[in-house]
Amino acid sequence: MKERLEEIESELIELRRYFHENPEKSWEEYNTQKEIMRYLDSLNIPYIKVNNTGVIATIKGKNSSEKIIGIRADIDALPMDELGSCPYKSKNDGFMHACGHDTHITILLGTAKILSEMKDDLKVTVRLLFQPAEEFIEDSGATYMKNEKEVLECDRLIALHIWSQMEAGYAGLQAGPVMAAADTFDFYINGKGGHGALPHQTIDPVVAGSELVMSLQRVVSREINPQDTAVLSVTAFHSGTTANIIPDTAHLMGTTRTFNNELRSKYEEILNRVAQGVAQSTKTDIKLEYHEGPPAMINDSECVDTGLIAAKKIFGEDKVVNYELQMGGEDFAKYKNPKCLLFLGGGFKKEENRFPQHSPYFDIDERVLKLGVGYFVQYVLEYEKEILRC
Ligand SMILES: [Zn+2]
Ligand SMILES: [Zn+2]
Repeated sequence: MKERLEEIESELIELRRYFHENPEKSWEEYNTQKEIMRYLDSLNIPYIKVNNTGVIATIKGKNSSEKIIGIRADIDALPMDELGSCPYKSKNDGFMHACGHDTHITILLGTAKILSEMKDDLKVTVRLLFQPAEEFIEDSGATYMKNEKEVLECDRLIALHIWSQMEAGYAGLQAGPVMAAADTFDFYINGKGGHGALPHQTIDPVVAGSELVMSLQRVVSREINPQDTAVLSVTAFHSGTTANIIPDTAHLMGTTRTFNNELRSKYEEILNRVAQGVAQSTKTDIKLEYHEGPPAMINDSECVDTGLIAAKKIFGEDKVVNYELQMGGEDFAKYKNPKCLLFLGGGFKKEENRFPQHSPYFDIDERVLKLGVGYFVQYVLEYEKEILRC
């Protein structure tokens, strides 16, 4: 397979550059979808359109069993300007593939190509999931795709995320939590405005909001088991207009993170209880809106076991590592099937050339595209062996 990967490398780079130059907003990936379908057509792989801008393709050989393995790639870009100077810079102003989903699409298409060439020998059915809107936290693509019949039928799911901070040539894969649950919240505080010189005639939402920010600091330090990793950050505080007016309202925003999905399910109640305590003591009215993002991404140990065998064959025994847990969220966590996510190192050799995910200078070493394809194909082959053994 190594030779075949080398042969398709330049095509992979060309595909990646096309998607990089043409990034699209979450839920509006129409051109991306069209290009994915065009490529699948060229390989004679049947597919269906789902969730508006998504695509699910199926590769089933004449010897394929009823076992189905799904491979998922997210396809959306971020609403930001690209500031780097690569020759394949975004042509769509205000949008950029700054999380590397252009590489995910490319790697899955490359995987489709190689697997379709091996179709007659395939012992399992492979489903390719091109999922829209991973970055749209409040209403992400996985929320819908996870319930599609073609997805629910999959015995397991695999995915990878390119990672610019990890050197190219390395991969991270381990069982258990790998990325955090990432919820967000809004607090709407209603008071009674008035003159800044006559605070006794007002109900001050700025003071209430300040007290709320400070009271929330007690949650992680005093309510949560110190063995759990937890974050509760208030990241926005909007209120008032000028120096001598006490405003009517305040609006606070923030995010919670944890790797423990049980703790995650308690955050909303905790936040609301703290807010109602502050509301009572300050005579304000405080409403909480809690938005569920992805749960913590927990890698299934059986899925990882297969992945480790495959990854070591592709990256090398000493290049597959336990990677540090990431506080960022990933909506692959929403799928109900047994699953695992591999971090694909894409970082340039020189550390100063590496920019983190979501940076306007984000880029990756394109030589890892073929390694991503190699991992997915090898995973399918190892999975086949396991099934045949049972
Ligand atoms: Zn991202
Ligand atoms: Zn991403």
